Amino acid sequence: MPPLRLSCLVAGLVILLTACAPQTLEISGPRPVVESDTFMVAAANPLAAEAGRDMLDRGGSAVDAAIATQMVLGLVEPQSSGIGGGAFLLHYDGETREVAAFDGRETAPAEATPGLFLDEDSEPMDFWETVVGGRAVGAPGLLRMLELAHEDHGRLPWAELFEPAIELARDGFPVSARLHALIAQDRFLDTYPAARKTFYTPQGEPLPLGHVLINADYADTLDAVAQGGADAFYQGALAEEIAGTVRRAEGAPGLLSVEDIAGYSAKRREALCNPYRGYLVCGMPPPTSGGVAVLQILGILDFFDLHPQAASFEEIVHLFAEANRLAFADRDVFLADADFVEVPVETLIDRDYLAERAMLIDPNLAMSAAEPGLPRVAAGMPVQQHGANTSHLSIVDGEGNAVSMTSSIEQAFGSRLMVGGFLLNNQLTDFSFEPEIDGRAVANRVEPGKRPRSSMSPTIVLDSDGRFVLAIGSPGGSRIIAFTASRILAVLDMGLDVQQAIQMPNVANRGTVTELEQGTDAAGFARALRRRGHEVSVTEMTSGLHGVMALPDGTLHGGADPRREGVAVGERE
Ligand code: GLU
Repeated sequence: MPPLRLSCLVAGLVILLTACAPQTLEISGPRPVVESDTFMVAAANPLAAEAGRDMLDRGGSAVDAAIATQMVLGLVEPQSSGIGGGAFLLHYDGETREVAAFDGRETAPAEATPGLFLDEDSEPMDFWETVVGGRAVGAPGLLRMLELAHEDHGRLPWAELFEPAIELARDGFPVSARLHALIAQDRFLDTYPAARKTFYTPQGEPLPLGHVLINADYADTLDAVAQGGADAFYQGALAEEIAGTVRRAEGAPGLLSVEDIAGYSAKRREALCNPYRGYLVCGMPPPTSGGVAVLQILGILDFFDLHPQAASFEEIVHLFAEANRLAFADRDVFLADADFVEVPVETLIDRDYLAERAMLIDPNLAMSAAEPGLPRVAAGMPVQQHGANTSHLSIVDGEGNAVSMTSSIEQAFGSRLMVGGFLLNNQLTDFSFEPEIDGRAVANRVEPGKRPRSSMSPTIVLDSDGRFVLAIGSPGGSRIIAFTASRILAVLDMGLDVQQAIQMPNVANRGTVTELEQGTDAAGFARALRRRGHEVSVTEMTSGLHGVMALPDGTLHGGADPRREGVAVGERE
């Protein structure tokens, strides 16, 4: 397999990708972009994408396909997302050209206090001690959100959307290389009996590659939800089992109650849309920081010419890193659940404000540290850990409706607690562990009923007439923001197709260090960037981007990240 060459991608306008000499990045690409005249599903696993295609084949909508795809993801990619977790979904209506936003983020239990992650000496707890077990389990939001999106944009009957996942859960599916590797390397997955039974052989070995995993409990759960709607999950026996498992988790009991689960509600929110290079880029509002940060980065870069003929790749990486640094300075201080704290969203993405921020960038030299651009009302919060988790899917249906959805149980395998064949999230670790810093409350501190700040950045780009252009997003913790913003830039500024853009090496800056993806040509820029004053780290950066793009003639292009096992699929030949 010939791996990527960044320089080739940068010169993508003039040089064919395939003409580039092989290098060392261990990914399964490059791949050609997938084309379709009718519809497209791009998702993190072939079986899941296939379930989505099935629904589109039957005349289903993008939301129908997203639900079917997600239900299979919860089975075949259980480490990443599922009904025990949460998600954000952006929907584009092909007829009205409106973008709608759905919030299925987990909520903190009513009994949670700002000191949830402090030890008896009022010091922040060790991260891993909080991940495993019940402490960080929030009320799951995925199913309520999908139900809401289906109410607004579904076409096929709810129950039908669960058929592929139920069948696959009963018949079994082959454990993928990625799932096998993640089981094998996980230090905590065998902590509790249900996950031990599901992911290991009776001899205690990680399930081998290709092992046919049957998950009858998951099939039963989905059967109940297919028949009874999301209520079958949020009320009754299943909710009691979830709360009981969390509250009785050995060594790390949590606070989630049946009332928290029954009281969960998904929210319709207003998408945030800002112009960029004459396009309109739409993202998700808080509680994710993703939408605001992506729009800030692009809004700042809109004041620079990034066309490959105007800027070298080194210059583009420098400017991109600086724009990221500025966005993270604001994000750390202001972004949190806007239902609980005031988040100056409008100001943060205002063009005049972003012009001021852009003026702080020296085109040649890195700034030493970025400060937030507005008076601080709260203390900041350090960047958190991230794992090999979370999933993004992008779908366009036959009617031109689109879905861009990122879904997560937080760390890989979440809390490691399992109920009804699915894993429970540890999403509450996305809150600040410290409720107060230097006497100032942290905006993203734990509060009962509050949603933890996210970085998930499902995005939809429209043209100046409001026609759909691109749906994209990624997993990757707080690097999601850079992964997503850089691909929008690659498509709109560099003219790459969506697959080339996704394959492009990753670059990020989350406030201090400029990170370059190990094993790619990006690493070759380390010296030059250091000369410009960047503190540089060359590191593994496993994005999982999935995107669908519409060309002006209506042809759809689908792209999947070769760093993971996803695919893009159009109509059957
Ligand atoms: N929990 C993270 C978030 O909501 C996503 C996890 C990840 O991708 O690492 O931002």
